[in-house]
Amino acid sequence: MKVLVVNCGSSSLKYRLINMENEESLAQGLVERISIDGSSLTHSAKGHKYVIEEPIKDHKDAIKLIIEALLDKGHGVIKDLSEIGAVGHRVVHGGEKYAKSVILNVEVMKGLQECTKLAPLHNPANLDGINACSLLMPNTPMVAVFDTAFHQTMPEAAYIYPLPYYLYTDLGIRKYGFHGMSHKFVSAKAADMMGKDIKSLKLISCHLGNGASVCAIKNGESIETSMGFTPLEGIAMGTRCGSIDPAILTYIMKELNLTIDEANDIMNKKSGILGVSGVSNDFRDVEAAAMKDGNKRAQLAIDIFCYKVKTFIGAYAAAMGGVDAIIFTAGLGENSPRTRERICNGLEFLGAHIDKSKNNVAGKDAELSKKDSKIKILVILTNEELVIARDTMELIK
Ligand code: AMP
Repeated sequence: MKVLVVNCGSSSLKYRLINMENEESLAQGLVERISIDGSSLTHSAKGHKYVIEEPIKDHKDAIKLIIEALLDKGHGVIKDLSEIGAVGHRVVHGGEKYAKSVILNVEVMKGLQECTKLAPLHNPANLDGINACSLLMPNTPMVAVFDTAFHQTMPEAAYIYPLPYYLYTDLGIRKYGFHGMSHKFVSAKAADMMGKDIKSLKLISCHLGNGASVCAIKNGESIETSMGFTPLEGIAMGTRCGSIDPAILTYIMKELNLTIDEANDIMNKKSGILGVSGVSNDFRDVEAAAMKDGNKRAQLAIDIFCYKVKTFIGAYAAAMGGVDAIIFTAGLGENSPRTRERICNGLEFLGAHIDKSKNNVAGKDAELSKKDSKIKILVILTNEELVIARDTMELIK
């Protein structure tokens, strides 16, 4: 069976067609600037990449273009749309209702609509993608796979905020956690690499990309994670502040006469690595500024990031009563030996000893710890699309 994986943002759409017999990626691509001037599709298949630049007014237009690319006589990978057995959609927020992936139908769509207020920036685009696919592929079954679902195993003490309890019961304010597909994928892979049953392991997964989160996975289940009610909580990220004293928000709103939107914008888009360094939200630029130009604020941004990750690792080792492996994944975790080393330095007291020469890898799965390190340190390439495709196939079967 072939599964089309769709990941919709408000103005972009990532997709991948996977042959589930061997989990091989047949084609993948990205539609950018949907409903904005300069829209384009970049499609890769059979070792070739091509770009179509034309007006793409909405998600339906985008899906239409993707279907044409997949069916194209020259660079297409299928002869008929019926070869696509199912579509798997990434949906950011499933609330408490969706603790597992689910086959989409009218009732589930209503449920997802209700989750929209929990993720007003993400879920509406996910729903646009689902609606577009159901119009253009009405006979193809579809599945929603949630970023939040993996964390629904957290105990109450981890997910209830110390706020008046009615804010949880009436408004659904609690920790949900995100990057669930990535944490699930790399923790399963780590157990494979260690030759152990995941049900016997205590793992800490560090998904370090432009958005970043740490997750404690005990016996195969998420028991704690750093992102919260929204993906703003936790470690400092590319442009997000992560956890700060909440009183700062009301203080700056008052002192600077900020609106709710302006305050939100500062915390989500102008803080983190960008906010401290003043250079960029991209770690490569910030590292270059710190190393080549001796930019002190760039160095400080990196120090803050690594320090925060380290403190979460310590906290989660305590939460689980130990740790067997620390996993690094996502853009930065997979590609920056320097960041991994900085985070691991000082964790020797836990029994985690990074091997500098083994750590000198990028873009592949590897063990990075010294031979006698009690705790394994691993780098594992994440594959969220494959998690979506596997869940989709499982449910359709
Ligand atoms: P992601 O959100 O997973 O795509 O990760 C994006 C982040 O990974 C950006 O901050 C990039 O700068 C960072 N990144 C990607 N490749 C490298 C690299 N070779 N060295 C340092 N950072 C990298």
